[in-house]
Amino acid sequence: MRFDILTLFPEMCRHVLQESILGRGQACGAFSAAVHDIRDYTDNKHRRVDDYPYGGGMGMVMQIQPVAAALHAVMEGRTERPRVVYLSPKGRVFNQQIAREYAALDGLVLLCGHYEGIDQRIIDRYVDEELSVGDFVLTGGELPALTVVDAVARMLPGVLSADECFEEESIYSGLLEYPQYTRPPVYEDMPVPEVLLSGNHGEIAKWRRKEALRITAERRPDLLKEAELTGKDREFLEQLSAGNAAEEKL
Ligand code: SAM
Repeated sequence: MRFDILTLFPEMCRHVLQESILGRGQACGAFSAAVHDIRDYTDNKHRRVDDYPYGGGMGMVMQIQPVAAALHAVMEGRTERPRVVYLSPKGRVFNQQIAREYAALDGLVLLCGHYEGIDQRIIDRYVDEELSVGDFVLTGGELPALTVVDAVARMLPGVLSADECFEEESIYSGLLEYPQYTRPPVYEDMPVPEVLLSGNHGEIAKWRRKEALRITAERRPDLLKEAELTGKDREFLEQLSAGNAAEEKL
């Protein structure tokens, strides 16, 4: 899979992309990520990319010309048109399901806005989808674009090693993940749950499943509606809610 990030702040993206798992994933050819400086595509000698908004108001708006030229350059020579996503607080809110959808694509172009955003005509003509990373406003689309690359890339074959596997993790598995512990076995007055030191894999798996169900029921009961649950899971959840109801009465 190929990611193309179009931005006015390419170094912000390059630093993140070369580190850790994302850097290794590219080095082993599991995906590629190119960062394009929109300023390189301006047709004016001052490399200006923004202008005042028509109708007045605060801030500056990114102009059509350099963004359109950058998009054309990124599309050139490609047999399949990649999906073009504009990072925007007005978009569909990103989640694991969307990350999975994107992971099945060959190419994703991530367009980062800055200042007050981009001239609407770019969105109308070139953008397939506006995507938000949450109900808050950031200074630019770079962190959202990197969030998307990270969430999508780690699902691509060869990016994570077997023991970093994503399938048991929070959300992807349909539940929030059970708590994790590592050495030492006791820290001050806090021991690691005994079952994890027992070496009994069956009991450990049962404990983890129950913990995942308990945490999900406490924090994100909405996820339980869609999660794949066994009869035993349902029984455990019923016991949990009966226990909670009894506690509330006391
Ligand atoms: N004026 C815009 C509005 O009210 O919708 C906000 C512009 S914001 C200050 C600048 C840029 O940051 C946006 O063009 C977008 O690319 C990015 N951005 C900010 N918040 C975002 C979010 N929650 N999700 C995705 N991108 C975001």
